[in-house]
Parts: sequence; structure tokens; C-alpha cells
Amino acid sequence: MNIFFDVDQTILGMDNSLRPGTKETMSSLIDGGHRVHIWSGMGVRKEVVKRHKLGPLISGIYHKPLHDYHQRLEELGVPMTPDFVVDDDPEVVTAFGGVWVPPFYFGGTHDREMDRVYRIAMQFAHKGTSDDDHFRAKGVLKPFS
Ligand SMILES: [Mg+2]
Repeated sequence: MNIFFDVDQTILGMDNSLRPGTKETMSSLIDGGHRVHIWSGMGVRKEVVKRHKLGPLISGIYHKPLHDYHQRLEELGVPMTPDFVVDDDPEVVTAFGGVWVPPFYFGGTHDREMDRVYRIAMQFAHKGTSDDDHFRAKGVLKPFS
């Protein structure tokens, strides 16, 4: 699968720290035969990739649409439709299918959300669905608790 990670409050805190487990999760997904991409509504975040040395893990860096998600992919130069997204914005998760993560703000906290992301992505890859509350199938509108 082509798995797209959002940047702000998904993998990156407001203090610019990387969410715990981000690199390990990306590596595990790649080991499982998937490709990892990052995208952001703030633009092409090369500085984040550089600062946190994510380059070897990332297959692409893109500008994420913030509305008309599918229609705007081509305009923004996103070369494929994501198969699975990881985002703190429920609307993006609903648009493409994937996992919603509670917003990450600051490092130094005990945050294991990335382990959950990995489990959900693996379930989805193998079964086409997941029973986890933070999983959403494409197009399924339901509030996250
Ligand atoms: Mg975000």
C-alpha cells in the first residue's frame, strides 16, 4: 500500500519533536512491503524530513489538499491516490480511509499511538478492514471517540 502520513500533530509536535515511534513504525511498514509518504496542508515539508532524517524512509513528500480531497490531488502534484492515510484530521481519514490519531502536541510524553497505527495498517493490509475504533474505511462518516 501507499501509506500517507500527515505532518503537524500527526508525526510532528508543536515543539517540532517527532512523535515517539514514528521512525520505527515507518520502518516496519516498509519491511512489510509498503511505501511511506508524507504530506501536509502547509505544503511540501522538506525541512521536517531533513531535520528528523526521515529521507531514507520516505518515498515522496507532497502538498495535501484541505478540501475537495480527491479532485485536487492532480492539481497539487500528488502522483497517486493514497491507499491508507494517517491523520489527526478526521475529514482526511474519511476521504481516503485509514487511521485517525489524537493530535500530538509535545514530546516527552508517553505516547504509543504509532504502535496502534501499525496494528491497524497491518489489519487493513491483510483483511481490508480493522475493528479498531480509530480505523475508518474510505467514505464512512462516523465521529471518533
Ligand atoms: Mg495535522
